[in-house]
Amino acid sequence: MSYIITAIAAKELPSDIQTTIESHLIGQEVKFVKSSVLAAGKAVDFFVDVENADNVSKKIKLINIPQVDLAFQKDSDARKNKKLAVFDMDSTLIYQEVIELIAAQAGVEDEVARITNLAMNGEIDFQESFRRRVNLLKGIPSADLWAKLKPQLNLTNGTKQLCATLKKNGCVLAVCSGGFLPLAEHVKELLGLDYAFANQLKTQVVDGTEVLSGEPAGEIVDGNKKKAVLLELAAKHGVSLANSVAVGDGANDLLMMGAAGLGLAWNAKPKVQLEADCRLNTDSLADALYIFGYTDKELE
Ligand SMILES: [Mg+2]
Repeated sequence: MSYIITAIAAKELPSDIQTTIESHLIGQEVKFVKSSVLAAGKAVDFFVDVENADNVSKKIKLINIPQVDLAFQKDSDARKNKKLAVFDMDSTLIYQEVIELIAAQAGVEDEVARITNLAMNGEIDFQESFRRRVNLLKGIPSADLWAKLKPQLNLTNGTKQLCATLKKNGCVLAVCSGGFLPLAEHVKELLGLDYAFANQLKTQVVDGTEVLSGEPAGEIVDGNKKKAVLLELAAKHGVSLANSVAVGDGANDLLMMGAAGLGLAWNAKPKVQLEADCRLNTDSLADALYIFGYTDKELE
């Protein structure tokens, strides 16, 4: 069967990259057929014939070449033909965790960050961690909260190019966030996405001031909900799952990443990197376009 190993460098690909990969795959019945440069010194495709793709995939995930990410996928039309992309928001499309920005306003950022880390490493249930964190936000005045936070969001390097390129090629784009809807809507506007899904917070009036009640409103966007969103959007737009991609960094993204044709772990927690189809640890999310088979000439 024909597969592709894509090597992407954070800075510069080592000149002996093929030999290095081959040395890690000795005994795996991998035959290197040809290579094709996607971007000089940055990204290259190795076309390989493999007997047991599952074994090779597992082996490749364990290869550790400093500053180089490897992606292993089937050589198929679906690779470049992405028709649905669902992105996590916090630490994926933006650098921050928005709940920590809100917590900073209430002076509870350390406690919130501690619970976030437990959840993202998969050590506690996301729903439970979400309720615990939202409860810490109780009493924060809500009137200008979102307006104050929107300018603080920093888009991840490369997101604009990635989203624009996918969109130009007819891909439906969505952000699906365990954070909050007003901010997810803002990111949707900044990036020209088609959909935004996220949590909402209940408010209450205390002494004439509207404040967060410390409770979520409606369905919590957890890992199951993220997967459901991906499946619903695929059905709604008649997109085969093979032509879908999900990108995230946390344990709560693994279900949607597993359901998508391609699950991409972006600067993710170690557990997430191992379970996802492929990973990227560079400084630009636009490098995902190399995993989809674009060359730098096409991206100019
Ligand atoms: Mg995240």
